[in-house]
Amino acid sequence: MLNNLIVATLPLVPKPIIRQISRRYIAGDTLDDAIATARTLLDEEGARSTIDVLGEFVDTRERALVDKEDSSAVLDAIDAHGLKATAGLSIKPTSLGLGIDEEFAYGNIRDLAVKARDLGIFMRIDMENTPYTDATLATYRRLRDEGIDNVGIVLQSMLRRTEQDIRDLVAYRPSIRLCKGIYREERDVAFQDREEVRDCFRRCLRLMVENGMYAAIATHDDALLEDAYEVIAAHGLGPDQYEFQMLLGVKERTRREILSAGHNLRVYVPFGEDWYGYSSRRLKENPAMAGMIAKAVLLRQ
Ligand SMILES: Cc1cc2nc3c(=O)[nH]c(=O)nc-3n(C[C@H](O)[C@H](O)[C@H](O)COP(=O)(O)OP(=O)(O)OC[C@H]3O[C@@H](n4cnc5c(N)ncnc54)[C@H](O)[C@@H]3O)c2cc1C
Repeated sequence: MLNNLIVATLPLVPKPIIRQISRRYIAGDTLDDAIATARTLLDEEGARSTIDVLGEFVDTRERALVDKEDSSAVLDAIDAHGLKATAGLSIKPTSLGLGIDEEFAYGNIRDLAVKARDLGIFMRIDMENTPYTDATLATYRRLRDEGIDNVGIVLQSMLRRTEQDIRDLVAYRPSIRLCKGIYREERDVAFQDREEVRDCFRRCLRLMVENGMYAAIATHDDALLEDAYEVIAAHGLGPDQYEFQMLLGVKERTRREILSAGHNLRVYVPFGEDWYGYSSRRLKENPAMAGMIAKAVLLRQ
């Protein structure tokens, strides 16, 4: 109840407070911070990473081109630091211009995908809200149709369409990151009930595995993790068929347990100065958010 109230009033919370309490979710302002985090995750825990330049929903071509250069620099840094076997790039289509012009965005995404391919680095196309679902899937298909195979997609189990999307992608045998989905969506397109979202996640995971797709299982939900262990065991999946994925700063103890049980796990490592949108979404998902904000506000008095 208190959490719901704080979610509603989050835009009123001063930005320095949001910044302070969301620090754990973000590697830092710079690419060096992201590379250092990826290196530490690998050396200390054996975790892989996917690096994301913060930024989304850009409304000018100039800004999209800056974001493209930033993602391009991530590829160079992964290569230069000898991390390409374990670190990849995640991109947000609207940060590369999908909301401005689809063809322009496609050119940007394609350039990054080709550069990543030439360097031997995997690139994941994040999934944003439903105005962009069709265009994002079309982008993925077009890349694959052009023979650019080092790319993966994300699907959200909150969406009613997702099972059908998986079926429609069977011929591509895609690498799919399956997550619940973070954006607020209307009832006609998305399940609103927690259990329905979970059930859809379980069905989608089975559909992916039964169709020989690479499953990137992106959840911190214990019930879904338990279910995934069952699916992995029942199908005798090997390390080249699945991995777990978690967000930086979330359920770190569970992350270490998954890794010590011998599963591959990749951490989403965002960095950059455009931290507000991402941080707000993470805070809304944190059950302890209300207390954290109250404490931060009090300590500032
Ligand atoms: C690697 C990765 C990539 C993702 N990419 C996308 C994407 O491209 N598009 C998209 O729409 N969504 C994406 N998401 C977000 C995802 O859709 C969910 O919003 C998010 O993972 C929370 O869902 P959950 O399955 O962990 O379940 P939840 O029920 O939200 O969380 C399960 C438990 O995890 C803990 N927890 C979760 N979040 C937090 C937090 N922020 N702080 C502290 N504890 C927390 C809590 O204990 C909670 O009870 C991604 C998630 C991951 C892990």
